[in-house]
Amino acid sequence: MNIRRNDNVVVLRGRDRGKQGKILQVLAGGERAVVEGVNLVTKHLKKSQDNPKGGIIKKEAAIAVSNLMVFCAQCKKGVRVKRSLEGGTRVRKCKRCGQSVEV
Ligand SMILES: [Zn+2]
Repeated sequence: MNIRRNDNVVVLRGRDRGKQGKILQVLAGGERAVVEGVNLVTKHLKKSQDNPKGGIIKKEAAIAVSNLMVFCAQCKKGVRVKRSLEGGTRVRKCKRCGQSVEV
């Protein structure tokens, strides 16, 4: 599993293909994740204390991690990452250019 919270990723498949966003949450099991602004679904809310007017909101739904790739700021595209150890810490780097993709 190469994706973590706060990573910048790009969407490879589906309605939001090509979109880029930040991982908001990786779901238990690590196979699905919620990406900022990606896979928006419309939710109809009932009136509640938090939301006295109720109404319709757009909210991100989880997307399969296999449809995501880590985005490399230097290559400007989704890339594979390799892991390496640097000074005792694990670092993930772009396989193409070697740029760290840690955030
Ligand atoms: Zn790169």
